[in-house]
Amino acid sequence: MTKEFTEARIRAVMARNKAGFSKKLGQNFLADPEAIREIADGAEIKKTDHVLEIGPGIGVLTLACAEQAGWVTAVEIDRKLIPILEQTLTGLDNIDILQADILDVDIGALQEKVKEEHPEIENLKVVGNLPYYITTPIIMKLLEEDIPAESITIMMQKEVAERLTASPGTKAYGAITLAVQYYCTLETIAQVPAESFVPKPKVDSTVLRLDLRKEKPVDLIDEKLFFEVVRAGFSMRRKTLLNCLTGVKGMSKDEMNGFLDGLGISPQRRAETLSMEEFAAIANALGE
Ligand code: SAM
Repeated sequence: MTKEFTEARIRAVMARNKAGFSKKLGQNFLADPEAIREIADGAEIKKTDHVLEIGPGIGVLTLACAEQAGWVTAVEIDRKLIPILEQTLTGLDNIDILQADILDVDIGALQEKVKEEHPEIENLKVVGNLPYYITTPIIMKLLEEDIPAESITIMMQKEVAERLTASPGTKAYGAITLAVQYYCTLETIAQVPAESFVPKPKVDSTVLRLDLRKEKPVDLIDEKLFFEVVRAGFSMRRKTLLNCLTGVKGMSKDEMNGFLDGLGISPQRRAETLSMEEFAAIANALGE
């Protein structure tokens, strides 16, 4: 079924419904059956899964998910796409379309409701070809709200994926790398060129699967303080750790210098060279 969504068909469906592609809402629709298949397969969807799709657009990926899942909830912000989605998904009885901003959805409550109504459902898997303008806030919402999901399989701008998967000592490594890798392990599922979308965006994309960790990779006394230290560390990329961390917990420059030295971490290093374990050591010592 997904093979039918060529560029010509997508443009015809939108024209027939007098709908334009909203740049503001990041509406670049997938016209590449192989990429659609790679996302659906990469998410490892089972009949006992509830799939939450973020931004279904005209429903190309939704169809592929519905073939494999027990239940699908598709959350689309754009009212004008709802009738088109309903047309695409006609005849399928395991899909609920929700017109909403994903940032406002209580995902924990949604999963509870779906489990109550469909006792065969065991797990939640999040899937989406995310709008570029809001990729990071969506990922952080999903992670910080501790949603009851097993995995999050999402397409994003290639450069964002490089930041999420980066290692210490590289240019792409930053606060968002540490935040995401604290909550998840990451797997690259596919690289998708700009030509696979209608309209064609200026950037290439990458599909990542984020598997939520059952146990965190570092023990923290105070998670909030850890993220405060990470954010402060990367606040001025070209400055030393000493300059960036001075002021955290009210410490003067001299105090911070002695404190970092005492931990065996050179105050002259830059945040991008520190591992998650080293950030955790700093935060835990500050928290004591
Ligand atoms: N899944 C479709 C596909 O692959 O062809 C569409 C992907 S398109 C990149 C992103 C979709 O997310 C658009 O349909 C857009 O309207 C929707 N969207 C944008 N912001 C949203 C938000 N805050 N909440 C829910 N959907 C959103």
